[in-house]
Amino acid sequence: MKITVADNSGVCFGVRRAFSLLEDAVKNAKISGMKVFMLGPLIHNPRVIAQYAEKGVDVIDIDSIQENSCVVIRSHGITKDERAQLDRFNGITLIDTTCPYVQRIHQLVEKRSAEGFAVLIMGDREHSEVRGITSKISGNFFVIHPTEFESKSEELSEFIKAHDRIFAVAQTTSRPANYDFLLKKVRKTVANMPGHRFIAAETICTATLKRQDSAGELAKKVSSMVVIGGRNSSNTSKLFQVVSERNKNSFWVESPEDFSSSEIEILKNSEYVGITAGASTPDEQIEEMKSFLGSLND
Ligand code: SF4
Repeated sequence: MKITVADNSGVCFGVRRAFSLLEDAVKNAKISGMKVFMLGPLIHNPRVIAQYAEKGVDVIDIDSIQENSCVVIRSHGITKDERAQLDRFNGITLIDTTCPYVQRIHQLVEKRSAEGFAVLIMGDREHSEVRGITSKISGNFFVIHPTEFESKSEELSEFIKAHDRIFAVAQTTSRPANYDFLLKKVRKTVANMPGHRFIAAETICTATLKRQDSAGELAKKVSSMVVIGGRNSSNTSKLFQVVSERNKNSFWVESPEDFSSSEIEILKNSEYVGITAGASTPDEQIEEMKSFLGSLND
């Protein structure tokens, strides 16, 4: 079995930065005796979160924060309200790992909504990144997920018609084809609205784009494709979508134990297996998968 790991797989710049800030916090806490907490999971990778729990770093919500502790804010960011609540605690040390690409969207929507633009967001309204973005908007906004393009088409048209200035952004992990589709639809509608102003920002993360492109290319060449990443990870879900559209033998797992016996059979019969991994998958988990697949040859 030939095994190839797709270029640009695994941990992105934002997650690497978050890990490094968390590691520094853990080291400093050892010296000061301060307890370190993650405010919500730092990243969407249950295995990594469990490893940190073993080191004494627990995931908590805002109501469970203890005074004189160190609180690490996740890479997807938090809402404005959560930030205000944190600022009211005495003696906590805040380590903000919000990815700079996410922070940029916060700044953009804050500025444009203050200028009077209504904001159109393509993304998952339940995702912490999108909740953080919407919390920064002072005026009206509308969130649409690509799976709702048809069902919410009327609502979207109403929103566009009700606002003469609209600013659009996409969740960082979105698929560019979906965003292009949405922007075309909005431009078509506003073309018949004299005086309407529509601005769209490019906010899809380049790390996500490169990872999806490389994985998509590899998926076309291999017999089977393995995607590693948390089941709760948005970018891994989109990565899996990209590869499964190009290769019917595509499997999404968090670890080798997740393969079913029929999937193992397919992998055993594959001459060429490709691997890709979501932005929250550390290098060790990719290496572990390579060894596991290699052992299927034995
Ligand atoms: S995927 Fe992109 S936006 Fe998300 S944490 Fe990584 S670098 Fe930042």
